[in-house]
Amino acid sequence: MKNIHLIDVTNRDGVQTSRILLSKLAKTMINIYLDEMGIYQSEIGFPNLKQEINYINANLDLAKKGVIKNLRLEGWCRAVPEDIESAFKNCPQLRHLNISISTSDIMIEGKFQGKKTWKDVLNSMIQALKVARQLGAETIGVNAEDASRTNLDNLIEFALAAKENGGDRFRYCDTLGADDPITIYERIKKIAYATKFDLEMHCHNDLGMAEAVSVAGAQGAVESGVDAYINTTINGYGERAGNCDLVSTILALKYSHGFEDKVHLEDRVDLKKSWKIARYASYAFGLPIPISQVGVGANAFAHESGIHADGALKDRRNYELYDPEDVGRGMPEMLQTGRVITTGEYGGLKGFRHVYENLGIHFRDDRQARKILELVQYANLHTQRPLTDDELKFIAENPQEVAKILTVSARY
Ligand SMILES: [Zn+2]
Repeated sequence: MKNIHLIDVTNRDGVQTSRILLSKLAKTMINIYLDEMGIYQSEIGFPNLKQEINYINANLDLAKKGVIKNLRLEGWCRAVPEDIESAFKNCPQLRHLNISISTSDIMIEGKFQGKKTWKDVLNSMIQALKVARQLGAETIGVNAEDASRTNLDNLIEFALAAKENGGDRFRYCDTLGADDPITIYERIKKIAYATKFDLEMHCHNDLGMAEAVSVAGAQGAVESGVDAYINTTINGYGERAGNCDLVSTILALKYSHGFEDKVHLEDRVDLKKSWKIARYASYAFGLPIPISQVGVGANAFAHESGIHADGALKDRRNYELYDPEDVGRGMPEMLQTGRVITTGEYGGLKGFRHVYENLGIHFRDDRQARKILELVQYANLHTQRPLTDDELKFIAENPQEVAKILTVSARY
């Protein structure tokens, strides 16, 4: 049976969304949590965006150092050769890329306005692929933006050209969230049969079906004998009505009746990390998790009405498809209601050492402590939220990488 892998795009599609944002430190923590969760790949950002370069290079350093272990760190680029060249100039250690270009008539006409024809689109993608290979890319996903509104023959031609010129996968982008599960299933099957090429689903939630469409597309791919990759974001954060939610997707693949024995999500994915990553993303983005959010919402395991509560008390299986523990919930949480010492932008050495000692981290001397304190002050200035225990530990353990993450050089 063919595998399904997850590529999380929170750090690219999630953060490019209107009115929501993440600090570079938070993006780094998300990469670390995705790695712990056994996610295949993180789309970490834009190697051609000046303010992302230090963050991307520092994360590539963290991978080299073994802090990020198995997660592939991938950069997003336009499928134009100049962008690929500058991406590798900015981030020489980058090894994984997704390159993107619009393929639908409506976008070719509406965006390029006569400057690019279909042949130009194909050619740009092929040249970009070749440059990426020459410059050392190990894996390249080739994205068809607006694939769901692109005619099928063109998509097949595009995917075949990507395969023949050194691409590793084809990303089918339902950019406007226009597909339904049956349509994508059938289209993906046709593309898979015609190309025998691994396929990525990138689906948006404009019709409230992002997860349904993604898993149906993935099913079409694996049934046709190719590996499938699903693009997700944590808590579904993303453009307009959002993207395909990470936790919902894993739950659907594991617990939906239709998928049992039919699809295989790669084994290393650890659903038990859901609660931690969803809560962190909510905190870092400053967006509450909706009460009815799949798996991680406050009401996901709550019962009140007479018939439901009675049934759930007799046997939880009467009203629950999976257990809170399956998504990493069920532990009581400590809330400090008394005196508390914190550290951050305006902290001093005594309070700082006290906080770290409670985390089990001790410093050789005041000199070393002062250097980490300075980073903590800058990190807090940068996140504008109280630093979490994991963030504080990460800063103390990886000061060089943190210094790089926090550095942006502005010229005027
Ligand atoms: Zn998108």
